[in-house]
Amino acid sequence: GNEAASNFIHNIIDKDLETQKYGDKVHTRFPPEPNGYLHIGHAKSICLNFTTAEKYNGKCNLRYDDTNPVKEDTEYVDSIEEDVRWLGFQWDERLWASDYFDEMYECAIILIKKGKAYVCDLNSEQIREYRGTLKEPGRESPYRGRSIEENLKFFDEMKQGNFSDGEKVLRAKIDMASPNMNMRDPVIYRIAHAEHHNTGNKWCIYPMYDFAHPIEDAIEGITHSICTLEFEDHRPLYDWVLREVGKWPAPPQQIEFARLNLTNTVMSKRYLKAMVDEGTVDGWDDPRMPTIAGIRRRGYTPEAVRDFCERIGVSKANSTVDIGLLEHCVREDLKQKVENRNVVENPIKIIITNYPEDVTEEMEIENNREVPEMGNRKVPFSRELYVDGDDFMEIPVKKYFRLFPGNEVRFKGAYFITCDEVIKNDDGSIKELLCTYDPETKSGSGFEGRKVKGTIHWVDARTAVKIKIRNYDYLMIEDENGQQAMNPESLVETVAYAEPSIAEADPGERFQFFRKGYYIADEKLTTSDEKVFNKIVGLKSSWKK
Ligand code: ATP
Ligand code: MG
Ligand code: MG
Repeated sequence: GNEAASNFIHNIIDKDLETQKYGDKVHTRFPPEPNGYLHIGHAKSICLNFTTAEKYNGKCNLRYDDTNPVKEDTEYVDSIEEDVRWLGFQWDERLWASDYFDEMYECAIILIKKGKAYVCDLNSEQIREYRGTLKEPGRESPYRGRSIEENLKFFDEMKQGNFSDGEKVLRAKIDMASPNMNMRDPVIYRIAHAEHHNTGNKWCIYPMYDFAHPIEDAIEGITHSICTLEFEDHRPLYDWVLREVGKWPAPPQQIEFARLNLTNTVMSKRYLKAMVDEGTVDGWDDPRMPTIAGIRRRGYTPEAVRDFCERIGVSKANSTVDIGLLEHCVREDLKQKVENRNVVENPIKIIITNYPEDVTEEMEIENNREVPEMGNRKVPFSRELYVDGDDFMEIPVKKYFRLFPGNEVRFKGAYFITCDEVIKNDDGSIKELLCTYDPETKSGSGFEGRKVKGTIHWVDARTAVKIKIRNYDYLMIEDENGQQAMNPESLVETVAYAEPSIAEADPGERFQFFRKGYYIADEKLTTSDEKVFNKIVGLKSSWKK
């Protein structure tokens, strides 16, 4: 594969190994919140965490960040695990942040006892107001001076359930004048009378992310806690929590990298969930979705996704990657792997008037021109055929070398064919094309007599198998105001004719439909009676290096 782009995270780890900051240990984690399906952005984080652990013979945990007391959705948990495995990774341990609630509570007590946390009665609006703005320091809460005893008592009462949601919070006592807003006495525990999927009704106080996350990492012995750039401003708080709690001699190092953004799609669980709930798309695994489940159903391969993640590399600067690069990686992977099939859309009937009526020839056609070891297959050829609607023009435009009246082309793997006459229906539409073939030009005969400029593919009419093709376009396009908007033509379904061997395609099997693109038999919609193919990606790249 491709040499990985220079990785500043690995440089940091190399240094830490040199100084033996964590001895020889490298331990990462992927920490999803089980509140939706993973998307391609998460794939970047997964690849980074798992391949980093692999590179250093370390470990990588799958940790559910389930500190919010919302109902567990096993559908999300199952999908996350399926997606990580599909990408080709196996976690060392599968852990739940909520299993650490007791220890997190103890950490809070440590902070209170050190005078580093206090119970505050301001409501959330007041807290925000007291926090001030970037231009001015905040004001101290009137409850900031509470004694340690008072704080311990109130925090215990919070835990006992003596207060309602929002009535009190526990705040870290840091610096209300800090230029970093996250350090202005952040809330670290809140009251929420809600059942938790794991701990039930044991708790009615729950830790905030910025308090919980460093402790989760430290408990697990994570050495390098890799996260996205928006947490850079939270790092001082991450370090503060671990330093002040003081239980861990070598606390984990948070390292931020730029999140993945892609053109022509959206990458937010919340937005994707809304589309699923509103029925704008056909579920989380709709092949247009940037979810890993959608990408998988669309026919992308894990190898292509991993190659993509490697090529984009990790950086400290936010940017938007052209979705064409992902498609390029898919094409690069599939072109060596899948067999060709002849398939025509918007079929036009061909009658070869000088070809005998009762003869069917079996033409030998290579399965993959680039990989001769993939062998040949037999494709029936007879007097009546179909060609693709795009391969005929009654009045050709300039430089059109395919079929038009009077022109001769090569029928791939068969003969040279000349179009003699267009037969029309009463309504003016094309009924069929009367053509002739030249028996001397048979493919493989070594015929050198004359050259033709166009080569097209074909399907034998008598044995053709009707299939459905779901042509996918981008989920999002730019509207006339330059705004991202839902693409109204993101799915166009067509009926096509395929060579007979397509009848054996298994759900999930991929092909190149010769000259058209890469396709996969849809896992959900393909039955033994009807083959439904998703277009994975076209053959031509719009992506420029
Ligand atoms: P979203 O913002 O799409 O809802 P999230 O960040 O809330 O996603 P989590 O389940 O909290 O989702 O994320 C798990 C991990 O994946 C986190 O470490 C997060 O930083 C990382 N991650 C999420 N989105 C991206 C992205 N676009 N690029 C890289 N990493 C990402
Ligand atoms: Mg989240
Ligand atoms: Mg988010």
